[in-house]
Amino acid sequence: MSICQIVPPYILQAMARCEDPVLVAHAQRSLLHGDQVRAGRPASTVASHPRPAHAAPGGTAAPDRTIGDAQGKQTTPGTTVRTEGAQPTGDAAVDEAYDGLGDTWTFYSSVFQRSSVDGQGLPLLATVHYGANYDNAFWNGEQMVFGDGDGVVFGRFTHSVDVIGHELTHGVTQYTAGLSYQDQSGALNESVSDVFGSLVKQFRLGQSAADADWLIGADLLEPSVKGRALRDMLHPGTAYDDPRLGKDPQPADMAGYVTTTDDNGGVHINSGIPNRAFALAATTLGGNAWQTCGPVWYAVLTGDQIRADCDFATFARLTVTAAGASGVDPAVAPAVQQAWETVGVLAATGTTKPPADVHPKRSRRRHRRRSGASTPTGATTTSTITVTRSGGFAGLTTQATVRLADLSDDDTNAWQALLASPRLEQLADERNLPDAYIYTVRADDVDVTVSEPHLPPDIHGLFERTLRSD
Ligand SMILES: [Zn+2]
Repeated sequence: MSICQIVPPYILQAMARCEDPVLVAHAQRSLLHGDQVRAGRPASTVASHPRPAHAAPGGTAAPDRTIGDAQGKQTTPGTTVRTEGAQPTGDAAVDEAYDGLGDTWTFYSSVFQRSSVDGQGLPLLATVHYGANYDNAFWNGEQMVFGDGDGVVFGRFTHSVDVIGHELTHGVTQYTAGLSYQDQSGALNESVSDVFGSLVKQFRLGQSAADADWLIGADLLEPSVKGRALRDMLHPGTAYDDPRLGKDPQPADMAGYVTTTDDNGGVHINSGIPNRAFALAATTLGGNAWQTCGPVWYAVLTGDQIRADCDFATFARLTVTAAGASGVDPAVAPAVQQAWETVGVLAATGTTKPPADVHPKRSRRRHRRRSGASTPTGATTTSTITVTRSGGFAGLTTQATVRLADLSDDDTNAWQALLASPRLEQLADERNLPDAYIYTVRADDVDVTVSEPHLPPDIHGLFERTLRSD
């Protein structure tokens, strides 16, 4: 007995069985491929890199790109297929990744005089053809990783340049503000990636704020999907409404703020609120967004005032302050202030009424360890287990609740052994990776969340088989 779903988290409990088991099997089979991220596993020292200067002392004047091909395995960096200066390969994913890295590098260099993601000319590495029918792209702390999509709902994740800009900006955030990938600071981390991902696209196309579509991932969705993109920054919550994806769950203001334990606290959902603030301010001001609000957001992200646990209200105030700095067009600060008021993060000017729910209750810790689940012999009393996969670039959730007795004997035994061991607890201590899938395992007094790239193949396979068991 199981419940199997691919739906937005906010209607997770309301949905019944998935409509298209073939599609689900496709998407989940993609996660079964053997090798886990090992070569690309982020070094524990990455997060503690000193904050670099804004500009690029010692940086390079051109990008240094390498594209690897995982050839359908879940491994990084894969076989090198294109390096800096080499001719196009004819493989669309390879060449889109190469071009998108170049566009993003050029954007940061031209607009902010920033040399690569670390400000010091860091070589850019991307792996494409990751996994089979893999519906995701993520930043693993050191490089970008792109799947080809399932070909039914999602196409290849290199197709939208804003997605490439989004992933690289996770690198910029890692080396600057270091926003914690959880709850409001995590939603800000996501929003900043959407903001600069969209600006990369606008800069490449020479689009004004009025001409921009403000969509994220418009080219990822296959034609049969009822939707324009994965996210709409100007109109959060309206990007798609499809039987397989559900309805875009992003709120447009704080009244719709979603408190959830999925997706690292709904980081891909609540990012709609700061996304809209940026898009509103930029479209109010007109002109090129990378010359109006873009520099304000960049100054905050790379400045010394922001902390890793920054919440929406603090970020908003920092942007208003940065917009009021000397040398900034005096029209910018009022537009930024007004935008944050419209989305309910800042109180309306001249009132004392606090904005709605600026400090929502933080969701609980991302993992809580069991106690006393096992007997002295190592056997457990667990009979039913719920596995949830959430997060990912699209912020979609899949869940299965199964009786262990309904699984194969091998998997039943594997679960019993896993729940009686400290392995899940150890894996839960690994840090979150932007846009990586996360798995939550709940059973009796077990409630553990782990990140996909950290999982050994045996555990990953067990999770995926359980998710698609019927
Ligand atoms: Zn992201």
